[in-house]
Amino acid sequence: MWLRCTSKCVFASLSRSYNNVLSRSFNIAAFMPEAAGFEGVSDRAALQEFSLSNSDHFWAAVARHRLTWISPFHTVQDCDLSRGRIKWFEGGKLNVSVNCLDRHVHTCPEKVALIWERDEPGSEVKVTYRSLLDMTCRLGNLLRRRGVKKGDCVTIYMPPCPLAVASMLACARIGAAHNVVFAGFSAEALAERIRDAQSSTVITVNQGVRGGRVIELKKTVDTAVEGCPSVKQVFVAMRTENPVVMTDRDVSMEEEMKLEDAVCEPAAMDSEDVLFLLYTSGSTGKPKGLVHTQAGYLLYALLTHRYVFSYHDGDVFGCVADIGWITGHSYSVYGPLANGGTTVLFESTPVYPNPGRYWEMVQRLRINQFYGAPTAIRLLLKYGDHWVHKYDCSTLKTLGSVGEPINTEAWEWYHRVVGDGRCPVVDTWWQTETGGICIAPRPSDPDAEIVPGMAMRPFFGMKPVLVDGEGKLLTSNNTSGPLCLAQPWPGMARTIHNNHQRFIETYCQPYPGYFFTGDGAHRSEEGYYQITGRLDDVINVSGHRLGTAEIEDVVNHCPAVAESAVIGYSHDVKGQAVYAFVVLKKEVGVPEEDLSQLLKDMVSKSIAKYACPDQIQFVQRLPKTRSGKIMRRVLRKVVEQDLGGLGDLSTLDDPAAVQEIVQGHQDLC
Ligand code: ATP
Ligand code: MG
Repeated sequence: MWLRCTSKCVFASLSRSYNNVLSRSFNIAAFMPEAAGFEGVSDRAALQEFSLSNSDHFWAAVARHRLTWISPFHTVQDCDLSRGRIKWFEGGKLNVSVNCLDRHVHTCPEKVALIWERDEPGSEVKVTYRSLLDMTCRLGNLLRRRGVKKGDCVTIYMPPCPLAVASMLACARIGAAHNVVFAGFSAEALAERIRDAQSSTVITVNQGVRGGRVIELKKTVDTAVEGCPSVKQVFVAMRTENPVVMTDRDVSMEEEMKLEDAVCEPAAMDSEDVLFLLYTSGSTGKPKGLVHTQAGYLLYALLTHRYVFSYHDGDVFGCVADIGWITGHSYSVYGPLANGGTTVLFESTPVYPNPGRYWEMVQRLRINQFYGAPTAIRLLLKYGDHWVHKYDCSTLKTLGSVGEPINTEAWEWYHRVVGDGRCPVVDTWWQTETGGICIAPRPSDPDAEIVPGMAMRPFFGMKPVLVDGEGKLLTSNNTSGPLCLAQPWPGMARTIHNNHQRFIETYCQPYPGYFFTGDGAHRSEEGYYQITGRLDDVINVSGHRLGTAEIEDVVNHCPAVAESAVIGYSHDVKGQAVYAFVVLKKEVGVPEEDLSQLLKDMVSKSIAKYACPDQIQFVQRLPKTRSGKIMRRVLRKVVEQDLGGLGDLSTLDDPAAVQEIVQGHQDLC
């Protein structure tokens, strides 16, 4: 067995028979109008099958129906995964900002496009489609007047706010690519990304405000651009009223925008022109600058947004990811706007001013779909249910999770407490590379059964496969292995910026003919997928391969545990042994030795004796990326006592966490 998988209790098959009735009365024209003419498709399973076996037909119909084209495409796809050649909708021309704005302005100009949930609770700002188009056009004209051309790459270093979205869309309008850098990164990390993108223009704000603290973003940009000779101008928007030092290079963005025309001719872009670069979180190594193009990315973002979350017109979509990550790109900005939806831009933190922030916001903004990360859910459940119960969350219909495996305890709390046992939790697996969600519980059936902690079913047109060590396809169920994607899809990244060779080596060469994801998965008896963690993190104890997620899942089940990270370290006899880092909830009141023993017993009982951690280190916090993912590679190096080999730490959130852990580890040894 490659990896084993803990058993999961199955919920929500409340009525399989009810589902059967539903699928019998499946109205395809209501569900997906463009699929109504697909031959032989009379139920959901047939539609899924059609999207794979008639991929060209499926994607062409969806692309024609859902996007507004300046000129039509002549070729649906021209892809060769083994050579890293990926092209969709060639011959077609379109403009992404027109698809996200103009066409909705024609039909519903006063509809709210963005709700900017500012750091200060209760001070949200609503922006209509008409005013977002106005902002975008003025900014597009300003960029053009200041020399930004089609093909240039503009770096955006801003927290989530309407002007950040307008900046992304203004780039799309005039044909420039954008490179959004999370506004929590240091000057050095920012400079590296500006240099890699060769940006001559940077857009920022004077100061950021997060968790009640003012952050000097303009100063960070000043320091960063000192090391970036390519930068000729910095546009500065005012998030606060505090003036900042402006140099000759700096442009007062709002003031200059006022002088511009509110009509901006959209550039006619080829489907395969670059829309943006985006760097990955850096959980496994040096961040990769992935390149996404126009039509395929937008189509995939809008379709997944609509179907994975059952998004309906009029819903308020609350994705709390920062726009500096792919989740923010696809599900705060492009997906919802292309669907003409209302989307929330969350500027704050889950615990500001208190741990009820998300749920107070859900009540105030009447959010229907809430999309967040397991790290925040694990944090919030520590504070207790009353922070949720204080607020009326009855508008919620779907809860989403992304970024890491969601452990069952967190999943159940999210479902039971936040969703009041009534909202489906959709655990969505995908990557910066995939552009949009690939595996999720209910992509084609809003009533399908959901298994806690499982991403479950592929999206339309997606073909996940598991392979063995030699790259042979594992065809049976109840099996585990490296997760690959066997069929190209429109949303996939086209290359790594300036490094196509790295793209080919990372994703195409490991298992020729397949896109290699770097993650491991288990396929259950029923054919559902569960992500077991990153392959780099797989632990091999005496020949038994263990995913980190399954051990952590058991450890996290202990009521005293807030969260944990498990790694493997070399062991003379077993090859590798398991080492667990554990963060306890506050005021546990049980001696650490007793807890250690308890956790070991739990793992032995739930998985197997060989999975039992040899060492358990209690820590205050875990090293995480700025996007909230556990950096197990750093923990491995600490345990190997290879502090010189910690690798790229540019995306590490809090270096002090590593120092504490190093100290704790030395004390333990
Ligand atoms: P890097 O590639 O630089 O190491 P990263 O992989 O963390 O960074 P992202 O593209 O932001 O960068 O994250 C994608 C990864 O996050 C996936 O490959 C997977 O490991 C993890 N992930 C995302 N969603 C889920 C999920 N629902 N369940 C399990 N893992 C997930
Ligand atoms: Mg990755």
